[in-house]
Amino acid sequence: MSDQLDEFNNENGCPICNSPLVSPVKYTWWGGLIGPKLFHHTKCEACGYRFNSKTRKSNTTAIVIYSLVLFAIAFALMFYIKTA
Ligand SMILES: [Zn+2]
Repeated sequence: MSDQLDEFNNENGCPICNSPLVSPVKYTWWGGLIGPKLFHHTKCEACGYRFNSKTRKSNTTAIVIYSLVLFAIAFALMFYIKTA
């Protein structure tokens, strides 16, 4: 029982300050409406830390990769349109 409770708390609280006041981020400048959902982007209302609610870690690496992939796709599309 206590293990289950701990797991529940870990999944819902902030990994930095342990505040239970965390909420899902619905929109970000880097991912629009889809990005934050993909990475379970969550914000702590107490300290402002943003993290992945599944991995309990910062999403910075995922955000950088996501941005690079989007940039690569946009670049490829532009290149394709110009040469077609
Ligand atoms: Zn916090």
